[in-house]
Amino acid sequence: MRVLIAGGGIGGLTAALALLKHGIDVDVYEQAAELKEVGAGVQLAANGTRVLYALGIGEELKALSCEAQGKEIRHWQTGETWKLFDLGPLSIERYGAPYFTVYRPDLLEVLARALRRAKPDALHLGAKVRGLAQDGDSVALQLENGTTVRGDALLGADGVHSRIRQALYGTDRAEFTGVVAWRGIVPVARLPAHMARMVGSNWVGPGGHVVHYPLRAGRLMNFVGALERADWRVESWSARGTQQELAADFRGWHADIQAFIGAIDTPYKWALMVRPPLERWSAGRVTLLGDAAHSMLPFLAQGAVMAIEDGYVLARCLAAYPVEAALQRYETARRERTRRTLEGSAANLHRFHNRSLADPEEGRRFIDREWASQRIAERYEWLFRYDATTVEI
Ligand SMILES: Cc1cc2nc3c(=O)[nH]c(=O)nc-3n(C[C@H](O)[C@H](O)[C@H](O)COP(=O)(O)OP(=O)(O)OC[C@H]3O[C@@H](n4cnc5c(N)ncnc54)[C@H](O)[C@@H]3O)c2cc1C
Repeated sequence: MRVLIAGGGIGGLTAALALLKHGIDVDVYEQAAELKEVGAGVQLAANGTRVLYALGIGEELKALSCEAQGKEIRHWQTGETWKLFDLGPLSIERYGAPYFTVYRPDLLEVLARALRRAKPDALHLGAKVRGLAQDGDSVALQLENGTTVRGDALLGADGVHSRIRQALYGTDRAEFTGVVAWRGIVPVARLPAHMARMVGSNWVGPGGHVVHYPLRAGRLMNFVGALERADWRVESWSARGTQQELAADFRGWHADIQAFIGAIDTPYKWALMVRPPLERWSAGRVTLLGDAAHSMLPFLAQGAVMAIEDGYVLARCLAAYPVEAALQRYETARRERTRRTLEGSAANLHRFHNRSLADPEEGRRFIDREWASQRIAERYEWLFRYDATTVEI
């Protein structure tokens, strides 16, 4: 069996590795001429790293990652701190896998290297996908350069603006959330010494929140600042803003946030969009994976992890059932979990940006209640415990 994959991002490359591991041939078609993500971090919870370990790249990734010791909630103005959860050894003890924070280009590099080891010519760069055609026996993937390739199944792992999704289900109805996500990376050496800690911090405030965590064995620190504002609607990893604009958005926030912003030379901004969940992901020999199937707000830090889980479950299904039945099994196995994650991410928007946070006293009561240990467990345990390598398919 040969599977064609449109898109060589985190989801497409993980799926390719998982398929090869299950004895299924793959070819990946990626539009970029070279594999490089814009500099940004990604958090990989135990439910994601468990899959990467099963694919044999856990230790390679570990060498480039950070194992944050914990995550904390902080008040946007006073800097008061609450524990969200312990990570480090506790993640391994409790969930059997670590929690990594990783520089995206490092993750892609590890995935691509492993793919080339498994099949040297599997990755086709500079190969932009245009459309598809299928019949009962095979599927044809059409590239922008006029080439057509054939396979037994096609996987659309081509992200939020997926061509494959459009070919199957038409233009989507993306809606702007009214929230802009700012991103930046700085060398830790440029931050005040007390900020160089191996923890992930989530500063919550009225109408905005800031997340920062260390990368690359603690040498870099990643910044994501989400703010409610209606005047920016471009959903892109590469759109730049200015430090002045970013500073104006977070005026009045704690001195640590001001110091962080002052250290970011080039901030990027991304308009956060939501798409209604698709009724179906699969049609005949074609299916979708990752953001192409179920893009979500980044407020549970699980979008990439869902793409990683998808890839492994899909490979198991294709190894066990005939193509069309396998794609249906995959979709059934993944639909409820990804829908619940998508809804949990959206619910965090109101939690992280709650208006009661404006007042320190009221904000303290709100945080005490919303981040009480029982409520944290309800929101995260089911996410971290899932095992894509054994879940029923
Ligand atoms: C600010 C922010 C922070 C986030 N933080 C986290 C986090 O901490 N943890 C987490 O798990 N998730 C996080 N996410 C979500 C995560 O980034 C996405 O869910 C993840 O990148 C999805 O992976 P993917 O492979 O499905 O899509 P993508 O990463 O978008 O990859 C798609 C690939 O397809 C290629 N492609 C597109 N069109 C074509 C075409 N026509 N032909 C060929 N190739 C094509 C693209 O070039 C790209 O390489 C965050 C998102 C944002 C915006």
